[in-house]
Amino acid sequence: MKYKSCHLIEHGISINVDSIQACCLSRDFNKGQLPIIEKYENNKINWNELFEIKKQHRKHQKIQDLIFCEGCYNLREEDWDEDDYISFINFDHWSHCNSNCIYCSVQRCKPKTKNNVLNAVKELIKIGKFKNNGEITFQGGEPTILKEFENLLNLFIKQGSKVRIHSSGIKFSRAIREGLKKGKVTVVVSPDSAEKDTYKIIKRVDKSNNVWDNIKHYRKNLNENTQNLVKVKYIIIPGINDTLEEISEFLTKIKNIDIKSIIVDIEYTFANKHMGNISPHIYMLMDYIEQFSKENNINYELYDSAKYAQQSRKFNPTNDFEMNKFKEQFEKYKKENINQNIKY
Ligand code: SF4
Ligand code: SF4
Repeated sequence: MKYKSCHLIEHGISINVDSIQACCLSRDFNKGQLPIIEKYENNKINWNELFEIKKQHRKHQKIQDLIFCEGCYNLREEDWDEDDYISFINFDHWSHCNSNCIYCSVQRCKPKTKNNVLNAVKELIKIGKFKNNGEITFQGGEPTILKEFENLLNLFIKQGSKVRIHSSGIKFSRAIREGLKKGKVTVVVSPDSAEKDTYKIIKRVDKSNNVWDNIKHYRKNLNENTQNLVKVKYIIIPGINDTLEEISEFLTKIKNIDIKSIIVDIEYTFANKHMGNISPHIYMLMDYIEQFSKENNINYELYDSAKYAQQSRKFNPTNDFEMNKFKEQFEKYKKENINQNIKY
């Protein structure tokens, strides 16, 4: 049946520390997240109850009254099936990390993991309600230091699922390496800088060398068909790494180690506060990275806040990348719009 919905309303779950939601997006704090199971505890998921609630969500979405989802960029009109199964799982159920990023909402809470999800996932597979045609994502804290991570990842690789892992890159994972070799795993690492001191300011740990070494090791396991699977992210953090020098150094490093996929985002708290009125110099940085990516045959992707910023963009793109002119205009906009004492 054709109606406007999203793959996550239909067949997705996001497992949090103590609840289960439909997705991990939360653009509007007044609406909160779309809950499925309010209390997730004792390592157990009642799959029957969960599918009943998802059925209700689908019913509401058919008549477009699922308020939480209004205006989301993931909504699209399509022939959606009626079957009960899960094919998109986002793991967000722990908050331990070996980094301490200044922009992290997870690290600001006391580290916790209440539930081990491995058995619940095994049960989902056993009852035949898991399909491998979606995507599994790991975010939350740092997956490579999660006790059940290697087993979980190997289980999904065995199921033939596509898996996307957000990692600090500080610890090397054999399961990630195997998944990359098989072309099943995408790993996203966000060093946000190629410069050691800037990395340390952002991450509050001194691990820049480890991270770039691990990115290089992961990259070595890719071939021509899988070269996009190691993605390096740059979160633009106004007042810290929003300079042309930083970006140029980052891009040079990307080129030198032959990374074929860049992701750009804008620091979440800043973006949320200024959405609709993002400084033009940030758009210029995005355009600069995009132009570099085109010229060097690198895949360019935007994440959540940057995607929303592009949607609400009023600033016209500049086509003139001649460095002196570009720099002059860039510095002018930055001076006019950015207070350098932003607190994170
Ligand atoms: S908020 Fe967006 S991504 Fe999340 S379930 Fe609703 S439509 Fe899907
Ligand atoms: S790597 Fe991710 S989870 Fe860890 S501190 Fe940074 S933002 Fe938070």
